[in-house]
Amino acid sequence: MIGAALADGGSPFSLPREAAQWASRVRAFVEQELQPYERHAELNQGRLPDGVAERHERLALELGLSRIDVPREFGGLGLSMLTQVAIAEELGRATNALSWCFPEAQAWMFEAFDAAQIDRYALPMTRAERHLCYAITEEHAGSDPSEIATTAIRDGDHYLLSGEKWHVTSFNLADTVIVQARLGNGPNAGAMSLFFCPTQAAGLCVVRSPAYAHTYNHHHPVIAFERVRVPVTDRIGSEGDGMTFTNAWFRRERLMIAARCCGAAGRLIETGLDFARNRLVSGRPIADYQLIQAMLADSAAELHAARLVTREAAAAHDRGLDLKTLHARCSLAKLNASEMAWRVADRIVQIFGGRGYMRENVAERYLRELRVDRIWEGTSEIQRLIIARALLKRGLDSVIG
Ligand SMILES: Cc1cc2nc3c(=O)[nH]c(=O)nc-3n(C[C@H](O)[C@H](O)[C@H](O)COP(=O)(O)OP(=O)(O)OC[C@H]3O[C@@H](n4cnc5c(N)ncnc54)[C@H](O)[C@@H]3O)c2cc1C
Repeated sequence: MIGAALADGGSPFSLPREAAQWASRVRAFVEQELQPYERHAELNQGRLPDGVAERHERLALELGLSRIDVPREFGGLGLSMLTQVAIAEELGRATNALSWCFPEAQAWMFEAFDAAQIDRYALPMTRAERHLCYAITEEHAGSDPSEIATTAIRDGDHYLLSGEKWHVTSFNLADTVIVQARLGNGPNAGAMSLFFCPTQAAGLCVVRSPAYAHTYNHHHPVIAFERVRVPVTDRIGSEGDGMTFTNAWFRRERLMIAARCCGAAGRLIETGLDFARNRLVSGRPIADYQLIQAMLADSAAELHAARLVTREAAAAHDRGLDLKTLHARCSLAKLNASEMAWRVADRIVQIFGGRGYMRENVAERYLRELRVDRIWEGTSEIQRLIIARALLKRGLDSVIG
């Protein structure tokens, strides 16, 4: 909880000592290992020189990053969510998705997966022997997953998956995709379930792999399933459990997005400060000009607020806030932080002037990269709807109290 075991000199809202220590280790990893490759990645379609991605993954595993959300009884670190957002904030200080260098088994998986699935999928992720991706969105089902049309038809001890999924992040680097499909027959016809499916399965193909605004080695292709056979043992949970697990995934991802946005904003402001102190215009550093100072001050004020909201939501998770209120808190965190980071990136590009428009400039890269944080894992409009519904049902004190 915020305030417990405070780092030296911390306020009640500072990070606890353990979280601060993790943040400092991860900051060193990001600055020494990831940031030096950003420009190379930007100018080479996101790819790194030979051996570097493997080195990043090995170092991330040595740090324990693939086990931070894994319960201790499964050999994980079982870190508090507050510590996890402190780590994610540091990872947000690298561009070009270089911090996505390790697979991450998550706590919800150890509740959703059965024992055999934990052995086959979750634990190998902690050792980087497996890499998963997630296919929920479709051409006509994005903000509203109830429109999902991909079907799973039971056929003896298998299901046949048919349909098309869009924007499947990291499909090109994954061996397994978790697919959300609508049951097409049987007693639970119409309900949603999740299934594991090998990315190389017969009948599964990449329709196309469009270019996106950012320059990542993780692609987001459109993929098609044509009567792809998956065994019943690869269904996650019971028939109809799909949305429950997807919501658990959304809550954690929204918090992590919020934290990464805070990290990005922190790095942007520091970079902007440094430039403003040194760039002379009309014989004076632009830091002397009050219109520049205002952009820096607004950015710091907004980052401070978004960071507190994010940490409070994480602390609420740790103290066991009821899931419905927590769901709204995670939306508050994502909405605040993703919109804040976009405004900060825009201001820092402005402070850099023409240099801010060059792809070799970190602010230019962030401006493109942060835009999607207002879209994926639920758009800003969807986060507002979640918050508004919670307000209308439970009142203001419950949502932000
Ligand atoms: C780079 C990238 C990576 C992604 N990775 C994945 C992935 O790995 N797996 C996956 O499953 N999905 C992934 N997505 C999909 C992402 O989650 C969706 O794009 C997002 O949820 C929005 O859905 P949509 O694009 O279909 O927009 P739509 O649902 O078509 O929405 C269009 C617009 O309408 C607005 N809108 C919709 N409903 C309402 C409403 N009720 N009230 C007000 N406004 C509304 C939206 O906010 C948006 O502005 C990814 C997307 C991107 C861009």
